[in-house]
Amino acid sequence: MFSVRRKIKTALNGVLRWVFYALATEAYATLPDGSLFIIAPHPDDETFGSGALIARARQEGRKVRVLIVTDGATSTPSQQMPPHVLAATRRGEAQSAAKILGVDETALIFLDYPDGEAEKHIPAIAKDIANQLWRHNPAVLFSPYDLDSHKDHRAIAKAIDWLCQEGKITIPVFEYPMWFWPCGAIKHLFSPSTWRTNRRISTQGFLSQKEQAIRAHRSQCENITNEPNWSRLPSAFIKESLQPYELFFEKPRKQAKEKAFSS
Ligand SMILES: [Zn+2]
Repeated sequence: MFSVRRKIKTALNGVLRWVFYALATEAYATLPDGSLFIIAPHPDDETFGSGALIARARQEGRKVRVLIVTDGATSTPSQQMPPHVLAATRRGEAQSAAKILGVDETALIFLDYPDGEAEKHIPAIAKDIANQLWRHNPAVLFSPYDLDSHKDHRAIAKAIDWLCQEGKITIPVFEYPMWFWPCGAIKHLFSPSTWRTNRRISTQGFLSQKEQAIRAHRSQCENITNEPNWSRLPSAFIKESLQPYELFFEKPRKQAKEKAFSS
């Protein structure tokens, strides 16, 4: 029964993806010159959400910085790997994945907020993000989408939203969907005003690099302790992340007041 349900969900996700791709406009050529700043709620979202974009930008010599908000310490229960060890493991995996995508570890920023608790820290996270943006002055920002079903992703989308409304962010913001299929996608379908914001970026030439980077997040893709209750991402989820395009939703600029970054 479970596998039938999984097959139906995979088929529905596949159809929805192609609807979104068909109605999105190609965005890479329209990105402003300058550096890219990627915000990941957990150590791996940057790879799943925008790994091919990162590899492409780095190949063209663009500076890419990745800010990882939480420590990822609670992705799985484990008797053998306490949360602080899992957090350190995931930090190392994020560094390995970034290297595969062409990003030096000095361009990674770890905020180390507790995994699963971003909602309790939205004002502090917003302040930290504003400080980092002020320091690095990127040309474009990539961040999680607020229709993701993961509460940390939604909390960080709220922090970005607030920064846009306060005029602390005035550069283009592209939100990437992760835990979006199929529920978030269906909700998005019923919000016609958001259709104009659909963007896609081709992954052609960068998918094998992206897949290698995804596999570098071993604790998320494999059972690294062989414990029966180890929680890892289903192989179907990994496969579904390797598509001809990465999808983004550009945040409407009208939300931003015309002010510069400030700390
Ligand atoms: Zn995540």
